[in-house]
Amino acid sequence: MKVAVFSSKKYDRSFLSEANSDYGHELVFFEPKLSSETTALAAGFPAVCAFINDQIDRHTISAIAEQGTKLIALRSAGFNNVDIKAATDLGITVVRVPAYSPYAVAEHAAGLILTLNRKYHRAHNRVRESNFSLNGLLGFDLHHSTVGIIGTGKIGMCFARIMKGFGCNVLAYDIYQNPECLEMGVQYVELSKLLATSDIVSLHCPLTPDSYHMINAETLEQFKSGAMLINTSRGGLIDTKAVIDALKSQKLGYVGLDVYEQEGNLFFEDLSQEVIQDDIFQRLLTFPNVVITAHQAFFTKNALENIAQTTINNISDFEKNGKCDNTVNS
Ligand code: NAD
Repeated sequence: MKVAVFSSKKYDRSFLSEANSDYGHELVFFEPKLSSETTALAAGFPAVCAFINDQIDRHTISAIAEQGTKLIALRSAGFNNVDIKAATDLGITVVRVPAYSPYAVAEHAAGLILTLNRKYHRAHNRVRESNFSLNGLLGFDLHHSTVGIIGTGKIGMCFARIMKGFGCNVLAYDIYQNPECLEMGVQYVELSKLLATSDIVSLHCPLTPDSYHMINAETLEQFKSGAMLINTSRGGLIDTKAVIDALKSQKLGYVGLDVYEQEGNLFFEDLSQEVIQDDIFQRLLTFPNVVITAHQAFFTKNALENIAQTTINNISDFEKNGKCDNTVNS
């Protein structure tokens, strides 16, 4: 099948080409994101392959549908950037990679916690400059601290296991209780109780209309004073302005982010020579107790192999049978 691969970086080319070696799809790699401005690139392609910050709204979908595209193959689990209703209305199948490595994301969340707590980034820079002072590097034991997990699906469950390994007391809030989490001793509580009693709150639920800005001025009020907030899920779960206010008032003691609501204008690009115009993002960077990574939680060799393999399988299933188990719309 002829596939236009959007938002493709060197590593996407390499992993997808390797996974495709036994299948022979015609993959054409484009660096730009798929959006209403770049749909012309997809002309003549029955399938497009897209990533998390591609803007796959009704405009984009109707333009590619008119050009004959029948399949959108996402290289991600989340599909909040796709107008699923529009795709269904216009006869386009959307497939995704439901799981590729929950460990990658859960381990990154744990990494953000350790970095914020023990300040490895600062310690590393100090030691390189022969500054061996410990002032300002004081941390706390994770052992016996309370970690609240919002969303205990595949990633949240792995994260719960890691935190249990540290000897944490693990609380969770989810619309469904995960039996494996219950078995490992995770205690499900109301959201308000989780926020009020957790030393660390970590978000692992999808971005949906229900969860949009679930962390806002009102819910931040309910946090324990000086708590740590970790978001490796989606930027839109957090009202960033409210988080900045909570950092200024010291209600929040630490914030670790791998995702940001407006990340589409920033992440995955080298902007080191540019003047960043996003004042909210720039303000976040000024806090000593904030660590931000640029949506890299998924970025392990194992995850990229799985993403590439499942994407190629999805495309092959669709080509052969007109359907695929990983379809988002039907
Ligand atoms: P999953 O579907 O296995 O689990 C999501 C869990 O969230 C489910 O148990 C669901 O019941 C729960 N949930 C849904 N809405 C909720 C709400 N309003 N409140 C509380 N819980 C709710 O998904 P997953 O594979 O564990 O992934 C979780 C999220 O992680 C994805 O949606 C994606 O946004 C994000 N993610 C980020 C990266 C990254 O690189 N940073 C990579 C992969 C996934």
